Amino acid sequence: MEEPLKQVFVAVVATPGGDKTQLGVFSTEQDAWDVMRAFLSRAGSTNVVSGSIVAWEIDYVGEEGSLELAAFDRTNCPVCDELTFWVEGDEDKARCYYPRCGAWVEQNAYDPSRWDCGWPAANWNKRAESYQQAFKGLVAMRAQSAAAGMTERMPSREAWLDEKDRERRTIQQKKFDSVTEDITE
Ligand SMILES: [Zn+2]
Repeated sequence: MEEPLKQVFVAVVATPGGDKTQLGVFSTEQDAWDVMRAFLSRAGSTNVVSGSIVAWEIDYVGEEGSLELAAFDRTNCPVCDELTFWVEGDEDKARCYYPRCGAWVEQNAYDPSRWDCGWPAANWNKRAESYQQAFKGLVAMRAQSAAAGMTERMPSREAWLDEKDRERRTIQQKKFDSVTEDITE
């Protein structure tokens, strides 16, 4: 028999005015995280500025039935400058969800006095002694790459979407061609 449910996990996001939207209620914390991350990766077109994952006790009487497990705050990315950089908790961790960027800052899992940051688009990693220093590391990476002309090779969001659109049309055209070939044969 399955264990009875004792807790549920709620993923919720909010706009600057504090209007909240619930993303869902889940029986496992992992599901709440998955849904939150999926939302953050698409949040670019929304005006959501914060999010949280909250654990709620079931059948709990009183005011303290909930506990915030994680909080997310949106800001400009130090590398690509898109408003897709999400800072987790009290500067515990941060990541840019813009697909062509992916810049991140994280405390080292084995050495808590060490921080790591990286920019996958340029295959760069750096170590630091604090969140602030790691963040500055990302800013420095951007400056270095700009000097090397790398940011010009990183397409803007519009160029990237155009490219995707072209790819999609090419695929559709190919499908259309193969279908018409079938008909004319
Ligand atoms: Zn970025």
